[in-house]
Amino acid sequence: MSKDNKNPNKKPKLNPYWIYGVVITIFLGMQLFYGGFGGQSSATITPSKFLDYLDQGDVAKVEIVNKREAKVYLTKEAVEKEVHKATKPNNILPAMTPSPNYTFEFGDLQNFEKEINDTIASNNLTTELKYKTEENLWGNFLISLLPFILIIGVWIFIMRRMSSGSGGGAGGQIFNIGKSKARLFDEKTDIKTSFRDVAGLEGAKEEVQEIVDFLKNPEKYTSLGGKIPKGALLVGQPGTGKTLLAKAVAGEAQVPFFSLSGSDFVEMFVGVGASRVRDLFKQAKEKSPSIIFIDEIDAIGRARGKSNFSGSNDERENTLNQLLTEMDGFGTNTNVIVLAATNRADVLDKALMRAGRFDRQIFVDLPDVRERKEIFEVHLRPIKQSETLDIDFLAKQTPGFSGADIANVCNEAALIAARHGKKAVDKQDFLDAVDRIVGGLEKKNKIITPDEKRAVAYHEAGHATISWMLEHAAPLVKVTIVPRGQSLGAAWYLPEERLIVRPEQMLDEMCAALGGRAAEKVIFDKISTGALSDLEKVTKQARAMVTIYGLSDKVGNLTYYDSSGQTEYGFTKPYSEQTAELIDNEISNIIETQYKRAISLLEDNKDKLTQLAEVLLEKEVIFKDNLEKIFGKRPFAKDEEE
Ligand code: ADP
Ligand code: ZN
Repeated sequence: MSKDNKNPNKKPKLNPYWIYGVVITIFLGMQLFYGGFGGQSSATITPSKFLDYLDQGDVAKVEIVNKREAKVYLTKEAVEKEVHKATKPNNILPAMTPSPNYTFEFGDLQNFEKEINDTIASNNLTTELKYKTEENLWGNFLISLLPFILIIGVWIFIMRRMSSGSGGGAGGQIFNIGKSKARLFDEKTDIKTSFRDVAGLEGAKEEVQEIVDFLKNPEKYTSLGGKIPKGALLVGQPGTGKTLLAKAVAGEAQVPFFSLSGSDFVEMFVGVGASRVRDLFKQAKEKSPSIIFIDEIDAIGRARGKSNFSGSNDERENTLNQLLTEMDGFGTNTNVIVLAATNRADVLDKALMRAGRFDRQIFVDLPDVRERKEIFEVHLRPIKQSETLDIDFLAKQTPGFSGADIANVCNEAALIAARHGKKAVDKQDFLDAVDRIVGGLEKKNKIITPDEKRAVAYHEAGHATISWMLEHAAPLVKVTIVPRGQSLGAAWYLPEERLIVRPEQMLDEMCAALGGRAAEKVIFDKISTGALSDLEKVTKQARAMVTIYGLSDKVGNLTYYDSSGQTEYGFTKPYSEQTAELIDNEISNIIETQYKRAISLLEDNKDKLTQLAEVLLEKEVIFKDNLEKIFGKRPFAKDEEE
């Protein structure tokens, strides 16, 4: 790479320094003007000297200029005096502009005036005292311009900075600020996504398939008088494939695809968002049929007028209004379809969902086991895998993973295998990749004392023991005491993917979560701060049981949950003080009961708990088989299908 600053083709760049130069020149110029017009060719004296001269009757006239400066004109006789000789004006045109013999500045006009008048009065002088405001026209003019010059200077400077920041385009990015930042994928870009690349998501795919059809054969629908929908909203957690789906639509329909994120509209300058929306739609119409994809639309689409204390949301509202206007504005035959993605459909402005705008909502869920397997298959395509790799197993090991997580696991596994110099990626690499993605990097050199390590081992063994023994607790996958990220150890379960949860399931899970602290109590008779995240989880769950799911007898079959998210309670609670107390009591009751249950379970099985903890201390990572060796087969057979 050679430096390109000698490249003669490069446009000469406007150097920010010239602005400084201009400003400084103006300053200097002003000083000169001031000096020149003021005629300060005369000598300066101190006020007290002046009073002396005045006292001696040498002064013919005093001019007070701009209440700041005094100009002293001597009498004809005085000029001839030895002391004043040096100041004899050598004007070429003495008659026209007699210049003062002396000038000086004084502090306070009132005091000074008084002194002069006193001297004149006491000496019976004929000295004239005059007041004058001298208009320094040029100077004033320039002074009034100065702020503008400075502002313009700063603007040009910022502009230069911005454009050089973005790769040095000499055009200046500031002129493009109202232009949309959408990335365009069309025939020319070779990123081709098709439905083949989207695994699972059958329902969603079916719905967007229709959109492809609208774009390809609009007449088929319009000929019967139907209107083509203008937009669809993809709702789902991050990484579930919403962008991918939108790209696939564009790929299948073979139309240009404008992709940008909601936050791209928002800028610190007022009015920019709206103008970007306008520009985006203009571009899309020019290329129609086309698709606009706005990711994270909640950045602009949040309900208007809510929690707007400062009025600072105006810019966002303008942007949203512009978006609504644009969507209403284009006719049915424009053939531009807007897809938008969000994981917070509940906070969106209702106006966005009205007919003629995003009138379709497509839900994109986290994948289940079967879908995870399909996603693995997609992302394993480019990877050299070992023959024995069991994709079913991988899918089972990754509950709660999104498509993006799975893509990440596959990539990470390949990197790990490469690091170990393997020819193909095998099961262990995938397991390591999963660990790494769930828990963060292993911290092999984290300093842990042997005592701490023992405490962690017993804590995790406590979780494992309880979850093994309770029917509804999730079956264990693995326990580790290798520190990772923030945690010192972890027990992982295979949560059942269930849609309805019964109270006994929740209670069993809470009991298992409290098993860590219970084990510390049973074995060491001490508890520690190591149970923080367990307690947090348990407390949340207990509160949800009581106040959301109506599962507490004492509080009853009611919920304080508002699915519309419209009610903002703020500092007031939707229940009375008595109910608040009841709720608190119920929550603490539920938790204490489960804690006691965990303690008694572990006390009854202290020997097995100890055995497990010792194995864990020795091996650091244990799996289901190790538990089976100690506890025997888990009696609740339904999860034994592996
Ligand atoms: P979102 O927009 O929902 O946040 P993305 O569409 O950006 O998620 O997904 C990120 C990546 O995750 C995709 O590029 C793809 O590699 C992978 N991915 C997500 N869902 C799927 C899926 N259903 N099938 C295949 N890959 C997926
Ligand atoms: Zn724990």
